[in-house]
Amino acid sequence: MRASQFFIATLKEAPTDAEVVSHKLMTRAGMIRKLAGGIYSYMPVGLRVIRKIEAIVREEMNRAGAIELLMPLVQPAELWQETGRWDKMGPEMLRVKDRHDRDFIIQPTSEEVVTDIARGEIHSYRQLPKNFYHIQTKFRDERRPRFGVMRGREFTMKDAYSFDRDEAGAEKSYQAMYAAYVKIFERLGLTFRAVRADTGAIGGSLSHEFQVIADTGEDLIVYCPDSDYAANIELAEALPLVAERAAPGTAMQKVATPDTIRCEDVAKLVGLPLERTVKSVVLATDTPLGAEVWLLLVRGDHDLNEVKAGKLPGLEGGFRFASEQEIIEHFGCPPGFLGPLNTKKPVKVVADRTVANMSDFVSGANEIGFHIRDINWGRDLPEPDLIADIRNVVAGDPSPDGEGKLAIQRGIEVGHVFFLGTRYSAAMNCTYLDETGKPRTMVMGCYGIGVTRLVGAAIEQNHDERGIIWPASIAPFTLVICPVGWGKSEAVREAATKLYEDLLAAGIDVMLDDRDERPGVMFADWELIGVPHRVTIGDRGLKEGMVEYQHRRDKEAAKVPLTEIAALAL
Ligand code: ATP
Ligand code: MG
Ligand code: MG
Ligand code: MG
Repeated sequence: MRASQFFIATLKEAPTDAEVVSHKLMTRAGMIRKLAGGIYSYMPVGLRVIRKIEAIVREEMNRAGAIELLMPLVQPAELWQETGRWDKMGPEMLRVKDRHDRDFIIQPTSEEVVTDIARGEIHSYRQLPKNFYHIQTKFRDERRPRFGVMRGREFTMKDAYSFDRDEAGAEKSYQAMYAAYVKIFERLGLTFRAVRADTGAIGGSLSHEFQVIADTGEDLIVYCPDSDYAANIELAEALPLVAERAAPGTAMQKVATPDTIRCEDVAKLVGLPLERTVKSVVLATDTPLGAEVWLLLVRGDHDLNEVKAGKLPGLEGGFRFASEQEIIEHFGCPPGFLGPLNTKKPVKVVADRTVANMSDFVSGANEIGFHIRDINWGRDLPEPDLIADIRNVVAGDPSPDGEGKLAIQRGIEVGHVFFLGTRYSAAMNCTYLDETGKPRTMVMGCYGIGVTRLVGAAIEQNHDERGIIWPASIAPFTLVICPVGWGKSEAVREAATKLYEDLLAAGIDVMLDDRDERPGVMFADWELIGVPHRVTIGDRGLKEGMVEYQHRRDKEAAKVPLTEIAALAL
């Protein structure tokens, strides 16, 4: 590629809404341009990185026996109604109507469609196992899109779906995907950790997340350096030891209704310090994690019957939503932390917590959103699991497997493997005929990788004050040639062009900066964009057959014979 024929659009300043370094650098390097909240154009430099990630993902998926197809972005509501997710998905799923007023969705994931394909195409045990995948645009109307492409609304995911005859087969498929994911993230040059994870809205019984280690990660990981114990702290399993230790008054309570947001998720989302609870209720719409969450502040004592009747003295309609300002002041949350407030949508109370004792709850669980005092868990609502506040876990706590002490890190979830069982296949009657001719339900798994999120995650791990430092495998260009005096020196032009052509012929992804810019301008651009290898060619060195070579991580350039460059870059 010649710079004069390419599109380089570097910026001095980062956008004001960019909170993390990857978002800043991707914008400054001209990799992305924002179109709307969480929706970005992938500019030429950015797209090159995405394509390289996709190529690695595709290669390892194919190697692991998965088969690529491409499923539609726009999917009919009927399929989602069959599994019940039409109602469960909530506002994160984008719904659209066609001209005939028929309901469709823009896919946030594709279990329904792939299961529909399997039930239509696979009839015999001889056709199993199969694993289908695609690399496709997703849309999730995230409550709080942020961090650039890391939590976008429109993003690219690789999602794979395995179909097996039985559980044992499905477990094998799961392990094969797990192994492929390890290879993928190794080839991408990332420091990562596979952790036990919650299965969230997708459901299923066993699941691991692949977390790229970074301080800016939204997830908290507890792990034991002396064993292979590692879990996302969202997972209750990681916490029993803490629950035991926590004083009764600081325990969190959750309503164990499967489709509602969980208490620890809520706590994580709103970040409330337990000690500061007054009479507050956390409300959420009846949606999976990621849905809108509100806080309802209730002050004063109220008669239960009045509450039920919707009459709360001084509070219109039985309750009111606090203003954002009130919540910020009350709980010390940062501004912009909470979802839409003052919205009188129907809500359902799903979680509460206490400071003093169990009878001090203000809670509620009825459709119309009234809250009730003195809820009795077990009597009024399903017995809650006791989940301790995550902030009670400290590094050095004993690991639940007894093998050592716990350490804590932040991570970015870049991949997720789920053992699904028959959750979707049973709901959609996805069966095959076994050896004896009996119909049996297929056993499924699903496996996602956030392709565009990976771009941001790689930058979070690989950058310095001058810009991005790409792992070689996903760099937009492997090597850049910076000729000094392109417009003036015939010798420089000739040498640079010859090197460019030789490297191209050797299969190296090379960029020739023929813009006739000053060295400072060229260097600043390519350091920001993060090209791993740089060769500077000037008249003076050329006289001795020498050029300057600098790796993006090197402090200084070194003089190298021009003839040795190809060997260096490989
Ligand atoms: P998160 O917990 O970050 O919201 P998730 O658990 O909802 O992610 P999955 O349903 O497991 O996501 O989807 C598979 C992968 O898709 C994730 O591991 C992540 O890498 C990627 N992904 C999910 N949501 C987004 C998003 N809003 N923007 C970019 N990538 C995403
Ligand atoms: Mg999510
Ligand atoms: Mg997650
Ligand atoms: Mg996930």
